[in-house]
Amino acid sequence: MADVDAEAARLLFARPAQFLLGVAKLDQLPPGELPEVAFAGRSNVGKSSLINALVGQEGLARTSNTPGRTQQINMFELDGRLRLADLPGYGYAEAPRKLVESWNRLIFAYLRGRPCLQRALVLVDARHGLKATDEEAMETLGKAAVPYRIVLTKADLVRRTDLDDLLADLARRLRLAPAAMPEPLVTSAKARQGLDALRAELAAIAAAGQGHTPTGQGHTKEPT
Ligand code: GDP
Repeated sequence: MADVDAEAARLLFARPAQFLLGVAKLDQLPPGELPEVAFAGRSNVGKSSLINALVGQEGLARTSNTPGRTQQINMFELDGRLRLADLPGYGYAEAPRKLVESWNRLIFAYLRGRPCLQRALVLVDARHGLKATDEEAMETLGKAAVPYRIVLTKADLVRRTDLDDLLADLARRLRLAPAAMPEPLVTSAKARQGLDALRAELAAIAAAGQGHTPTGQGHTKEPT
């Protein structure tokens, strides 16, 4: 079974991922004809680095987003079968309040109103754990019944014992969170850790989505 998963993942990433478009307003979103997976997280969490490592294309997702620059949802497509939605980073402390509010509105409206959204990955810096804005995003995902997984980033920067403490704390919290998948993924774009597990997860969603219809309502709760 693991071999099948590995092969499915290899195929999904065999061809270069393609940048489709940047969406600044919800009405610019492409029709939801393919299953989508959203990447969410605080600014600087390492989201662009993880996406680039995942697809093996440096520079696909732009690293070090400058706060103040136009923020948008960047849509990528893998093998004509799966779309990745790279959401603008939330919670940038020094960004003007008005800008923060408009980013959050866009992100939360997208998360709530996208039936083809099969999974969200909520990226959390392994050094810092959950912040209030992460909890807000998790709450929104719970309300929208979008299954999500916590993905810890920059695991190369934390000691094993601190990581174990964080995982134990997350296990307690995730048990109480509706729509949360119980097992966080531990990753490091730098050390290339956890990438195969993430690719396998995306391949399973792409495979499950082959019977997906654009008008389909609701979300698949669990991968098969
Ligand atoms: P984004 O704002 O969430 O897209 O974050 P970036 O991908 O631009 O990364 C923010 C900073 O964290 C950059 O300085 C990256 O080099 C660094 N970074 C990202 N991923 C890792 C990682 O896995 N390990 C380490 N040590 N640094 C990382």
